[in-house]
Amino acid sequence: MTSSPRPLQGKVALVTGASRGIGKAIALRLAQAGAKVACVATEASRAEESAQACQAVTPGAKAYGCDVADTAAVQALVDAVQKDLGGLDILVNNAGITRDQLMLRMSEEDFDRVIEVNLKGTWNFCKAASRPLMKCKGKVINITSIVGLTGNAGQANYAASKAGVVGLTKSLAKELAGRGVCINAIAPGYISTDMTAAIDDKAKEALQSKIPLGRIGNPDDIAAAVEFLAGPTGDYITGQTLVVDGGLSL
Ligand code: NDP
Repeated sequence: MTSSPRPLQGKVALVTGASRGIGKAIALRLAQAGAKVACVATEASRAEESAQACQAVTPGAKAYGCDVADTAAVQALVDAVQKDLGGLDILVNNAGITRDQLMLRMSEEDFDRVIEVNLKGTWNFCKAASRPLMKCKGKVINITSIVGLTGNAGQANYAASKAGVVGLTKSLAKELAGRGVCINAIAPGYISTDMTAAIDDKAKEALQSKIPLGRIGNPDDIAAAVEFLAGPTGDYITGQTLVVDGGLSL
């Protein structure tokens, strides 16, 4: 009996924010589906462990480092990935930061930096990767947040950046549909990672009690949705935002 081919066999995927949390789970899931994965973090050394885990399931994985907000560095990284891994078929913009504060206390610097990393970083990679993605009718998955859809007190910068990612996704989906590129967003709810680790136990319990499915999400809940959109299962879906939140935003 022959085993069925893996859905992403022969594809090259680039995942930003792949050193930990959701990005690490996405990178591993795409590697398990057969893709060669470029794992990107602020420094290549930070993404090395993830790249090794990917390499163990699909040879060809490699770690890269850059600040996603640095346009020239992003272009150089995308060029290097194509040269090293032989192309670029799937782009996952997952890197993100928070700098939470009520507006009256939020500094201009904290506003700007969150927009630069979360929104401009996503734009930088979409633009730098657009030519290779058009060549192979590739896929882009942008990680936004339910906060970008609902807003959240204390997260004006973060919510604005994530709402921006939804608008960017819809616009680029319209621009690139004629070239066969599908671009979608995923809006996670509350997922257990370093980003949410600072929330105290009492607040966590209160949050959990508001989730209709009764549990906090884990990174693989998001990775499963990315795999769905990145593979042939996502071939007729574009410009959408898929909410993966256990029903929290209902
Ligand atoms: P983590 O804080 O656990 O990880 C963030 C990742 O982004 C790290 O790999 C980090 O790299 C990378 N990163 C941060 N800044 C930069 C930068 N300037 N340049 C390059 N890489 C950078 O986050 P999560 O896994 O929790 O979140 C991943 C994504 O999911 C984010 O976009 C987040 O907004 C979104 N999200 C998360 C939710 C949650 O509940 N956790 C809910 C909704 C959305 P390094 O290790 O080098 O610092």
